[in-house]
Amino acid sequence: MGYILRQCHAEYDRLYIQDKLREMNPHMLEVVNMIRPDGDVEIPQETVEGFQPPNCETCGGVLKPDIIFFGDNVPRARVEAVKDSISQSNSLLVLGSSLTVFSSYRIVLQALEENKNIAIVNIGPTRADKLVKIKISARCGDILPKIC
Ligand SMILES: [Zn+2]
Repeated sequence: MGYILRQCHAEYDRLYIQDKLREMNPHMLEVVNMIRPDGDVEIPQETVEGFQPPNCETCGGVLKPDIIFFGDNVPRARVEAVKDSISQSNSLLVLGSSLTVFSSYRIVLQALEENKNIAIVNIGPTRADKLVKIKISARCGDILPKIC
């Protein structure tokens, strides 16, 4: 996953940005040792205030991850690409999603409409549990090594 800036569309490799973050924020390395088993970390306020984010090297703007944030719209071209992929596939495997958000749920609806085989692996209930024949309630990290 690259990081992208919306204004100038420059993209950077994720690992390149990670190195930049380390270089610009050596004081944050101590935070790595404070990560709890559940992945949470309590960061002192003075450490947060001293954080320096890298800017776009092309335009100097703010970088943001190339992901869709909750409440944002999935770009039309990406929606169409997913629709085409579903139509060209014979099955759909949903991993680690509750399918609560309609943009993901509609992928399952399309696959159902096109009579694709559908399986879901998710640790909790999903919006499509009653619509599919195969639902495995488990951690993806436990299941994937067994089927790959
Ligand atoms: Zn830029």
